[in-house]
Amino acid sequence: MFIYEFKVNPKPQEILAIKEAIRTSQFVRNKVLRFWMDNRGVGKTEMFRYNTSLRKEFKFVEDLNSHACQTAVERVLKAVNRFYDNCKKQIPGKKGYPKFKKYSRSVEYKVSGWKLSENRKHITFTDKKGIGNLKLIGSRDLNFVAIEQIKRVRILRRADGYYVQLSLQLDPRDTVLPITPSQKAVGIDVGIKYFLADSQGNIEPNPQFYRQGEQQLNRRNRRKSKKYRQGKPQSQNYHKARCLYALKHLKVSTIQREEFVKRVALRLIKSNDLVAYEDLNVKGMVKNRHLSKSITDAGWSKFRRWLDYFGYKYGKITIAVFPYNTSQNCSNCGEKVQKSLSTRTHICPHCNYVEDRDINAALNILQKGLSTVGHTESLKLGEFDPLAELEQSCSVKIGL
Ligand SMILES: [Zn+2]
Repeated sequence: MFIYEFKVNPKPQEILAIKEAIRTSQFVRNKVLRFWMDNRGVGKTEMFRYNTSLRKEFKFVEDLNSHACQTAVERVLKAVNRFYDNCKKQIPGKKGYPKFKKYSRSVEYKVSGWKLSENRKHITFTDKKGIGNLKLIGSRDLNFVAIEQIKRVRILRRADGYYVQLSLQLDPRDTVLPITPSQKAVGIDVGIKYFLADSQGNIEPNPQFYRQGEQQLNRRNRRKSKKYRQGKPQSQNYHKARCLYALKHLKVSTIQREEFVKRVALRLIKSNDLVAYEDLNVKGMVKNRHLSKSITDAGWSKFRRWLDYFGYKYGKITIAVFPYNTSQNCSNCGEKVQKSLSTRTHICPHCNYVEDRDINAALNILQKGLSTVGHTESLKLGEFDPLAELEQSCSVKIGL
């Protein structure tokens, strides 16, 4: 899936209509979720049937395009399946029991309920929610796209306004010129002291923007809290402060971090033919209070996803290896050399090999990766949707 994103500037009455469509989609989602909770064991068919009955019962649900209602049900299904999966895999910690949504930020149409204008610079929503015609602002030219390739249309609200996203079914590999093999392979270790160290001896320092932005973020958060009135309706000034906070949050949490990990991932993929990394349980790591800040800073799981995505796009191999003893073993002779987290240098008493702790680990990861080539599962296309990820990560828990 490819996402084309456009900014839109809806008029006040159009904003009302968009909000109403988002609310309806949220209503369907929450109703279907309730139905699943109350009726143990109901599956896909019953959930879709229940959706149909909702459309008969409520006029405002009927007004929303039927496919848009379906995507709301699909989102519940996805959440339910993820929950079952987590239980089956017995992942440590919370299993992610599906929750009701309170502040939905988007509504998603499929192939109906909208129409592009002749010159493809406007989109009209044709269901009975009355959103009407929106001008698509952005540099992407839709004239090069076949309408059948547009599989989803999403209207999305962020702290800085409204967006329309089109998901296109294109293979990312179609748009790439073949690149010459680099004849290099690399292993990478995610550090605490660094963002990552690789087996070629390079170090990528941790990005510091989060901590820098944090001060400003805290200031804005305090300003917001000061204006909060418990048990009373909130003032205009409170809402103003809240919006400023949300904007800052959007900038720090999403845009800067995403750009950073994307850049590092692309560089690694372009300069190597094989990239091996550790299959880390980020959840478990973030729980460790002392480490958590640098791990979330670094956005490790986002980084992995971009790595897999670019690997797929450029026809390179990415491998996740099991992170067992990678930092303890000696990459030169394979003997185990116990060390604590604070030991920064690997010194092997068996073969006298000396190396930086993280680079030694990266070498081990590369060795493991090379020994598993051929047994790997490659990324299935369509599972990764970079901008949907972005949307999720920027849903600051404040409705705007
Ligand atoms: Zn050794």
